[in-house]
Amino acid sequence: AHITNHMPTAELQALDAAHHMHPFTTNDELAEKGARIITRAKGVYLTDSEGNEILDGMAGLWCVNIGYGRQEMADVAARQMLELNYYNTFFMTSHVPAIALAKEIASLAPGDLNHVFFAGSGSEANDTNIRMVRTYWAMKGKPEKSHIISRKNAYHGSSMGSGSLGGMSYMHEQGGMPIPGIHHINQPDWWVEGGDLTPEAFGLARAQELEAKILELGADNVAAFIGEPIQGAGGVIVPPSTYWPEIQRICDKYNVLIIADEVICGFGRTGSWFGSETMGIKPHIMTIAKGLSSGYQPIGGSIVCEEIAQTIGSGEFNHGYTYSGHPVCSAVALENLRIMQDENILDHVNNVAAPALKEGLAKLAEHPLVGTVNVAGLMASLPLSPRKETRSKFAGDAGTVGYMCRERCFANNLVMRHVGDRMIISPPLVITPEEIKVFMTRATKALDETY
Ligand code: PLP
Repeated sequence: AHITNHMPTAELQALDAAHHMHPFTTNDELAEKGARIITRAKGVYLTDSEGNEILDGMAGLWCVNIGYGRQEMADVAARQMLELNYYNTFFMTSHVPAIALAKEIASLAPGDLNHVFFAGSGSEANDTNIRMVRTYWAMKGKPEKSHIISRKNAYHGSSMGSGSLGGMSYMHEQGGMPIPGIHHINQPDWWVEGGDLTPEAFGLARAQELEAKILELGADNVAAFIGEPIQGAGGVIVPPSTYWPEIQRICDKYNVLIIADEVICGFGRTGSWFGSETMGIKPHIMTIAKGLSSGYQPIGGSIVCEEIAQTIGSGEFNHGYTYSGHPVCSAVALENLRIMQDENILDHVNNVAAPALKEGLAKLAEHPLVGTVNVAGLMASLPLSPRKETRSKFAGDAGTVGYMCRERCFANNLVMRHVGDRMIISPPLVITPEEIKVFMTRATKALDETY
């Protein structure tokens, strides 16, 4: 039989559990509870197969920045599919959507980040970055300058390369990650790991772990440092103000390239076009995906500085994906960037949405379960704590209370994700103050029910 939105939820759930393998999910969970089936979405609201309207406080997976269901995006996709649904960018061919998108990204990116290597996702883009920085140094006559330093609890994707860059130990346990030559230093998470240090002293100490690691490996062996300007999937960890300037100083001193993974922070999430601008970082390469197309089509890429692009391009870079610069994805991403600019969405974030979110979160912070608030623009986390004065953690498995709270949010038609005992917030950038009020009402109810 034809499978449609009109089938009973239980039947859809059974088919889903029988045939569809989900990322980061067990079969038992699917069989026992059944996935929530999302049937449509508009603005900041999802609708499920039972007709519930769910406020999406996560913009999908941090990506639907301009909101769901926009006619212009569908029109552009349809037009592009009829005009040129596919052609590749290998072997000396190109097409207007990829050219126009690359030019637009170059004009938005800071400094001399003027070149774009396209990929289908953030994971693919970070795989590109591993090969690109190693190839760059090899072409400069330094093939041994190949090690890459990242951070524990970082998230850079799920492929073998990007998952190795990431610092999720539970991912490294499966399938032979990390690949050789990748090292992880501690993250700048003051709330959990800061002890008696001030945030500023802690930020400096954590940055200086990079210097120690470079000296241990030898600066001539270190190609690059990679970091999310603000760690996202690791729990929205906004680093102390001292952290990134010290990382920048160290990378400059030892001639280590900086890769800023902007997959979440890029395209307005922190109130600037790029998180690197918010945090004062001057990267050589930026990883982009998610907000580039607001999730309307899968597309990612690496924005590359002049020196690396010219060096890599002086030979043939034996790398690329069938869908590098895919015309429909590129046209849709370009339309997304047009909407971002024509509707002044950055101004909306900075002057309307972020202040409203901050005000709402300040009230939530008074809840006995909420330890503190981390917030930058429209990304935020609420670490839950049994005693906020001492920044203590819940006993037992990290994530139990967070998991319960997420379940209570979902039952109250609010998507707020959890990472361990941290609640995570990343709504569409177009969210209005009225919608933020709805968010706060549902979140407060969920916190009360968890407490
Ligand atoms: N980098 C960061 C910072 C991310 O948050 C993600 C995904 O959440 C990725 C890379 C991987 O992107 P994708 O899932 O598109 O492969």
